[in-house]
Amino acid sequence: MPERSPVIEVRGVSRGYALGRRRIQAVRHADLAVREGEIVGVHGPSGSGKSTLLRLLAAVEPPDEGKVLLGGRAAWSRRYGRPYRDPPRPGYVMPVFQNPFASLDVRWPIWRSVAEPVAIAGSLPRAGRRALAAERLDAVGLGGLDLDATPSELSIGQCQRVAVARALAASPAAVVADEPTSALDVTTVAGMLRLFKQVTADGTALVLVSHDQNMLHALCDRVYAMGAGRLEMIAY
Ligand code: ADP
Ligand code: MG
Repeated sequence: MPERSPVIEVRGVSRGYALGRRRIQAVRHADLAVREGEIVGVHGPSGSGKSTLLRLLAAVEPPDEGKVLLGGRAAWSRRYGRPYRDPPRPGYVMPVFQNPFASLDVRWPIWRSVAEPVAIAGSLPRAGRRALAAERLDAVGLGGLDLDATPSELSIGQCQRVAVARALAASPAAVVADEPTSALDVTTVAGMLRLFKQVTADGTALVLVSHDQNMLHALCDRVYAMGAGRLEMIAY
């Protein structure tokens, strides 16, 4: 049987940003392939390019060079001279941004943000989506939370958990999460890690950025270190 394509893959990707007259090279020629059910960890100092790498993996922004593949297909095509995002299906890869407010719509009640990926998939009526949001929030330990609260009424840690609930809501093929446990206490982190184990056991591919190297080594199939835009595997 032919081996299945990685769920997400970057090949030789680089990405830089203009800073005044200078150009910052955030990611340099990175290669990474993540298969079904794998958990891959990435750590590294601030400014080493971790968040940029995750945005490339999630096809949130296009690389300057190299290829991003989702399910073995190019994630970006060009239309009218511009990069055009072309995932296998909506919600195929879900990002959890480092700033949880970036993953949520601040004007919306949280149940709506959590259920939005399901609404886009178009498979459930509104009452069903609200019930599903309650279930997903319960899975991240926010069972008692008011479904109609808005992000500004929550703590950063609660927003992080809402962002994770949203990312997992519509059973994505892959989740890329940028320090999703940074504002959580140890008990809550443990619950979140159990949830990550569970969803990857069900086949989701997960890339996790964290400063907590011990946690990554305990949880992940592979751990990479980033330094000055370069990605290097340090444990398998
Ligand atoms: P990390 O997540 O490891 O802290 P980042 O990927 O956020 O690293 O940033 C890597 C480098 O790229 C940093 O020097 C940062 O200032 C720069 N950078 C990242 N995103 C942008 C952006 N949107 N505009 C300008 N510079 C950016
Ligand atoms: Mg970052």
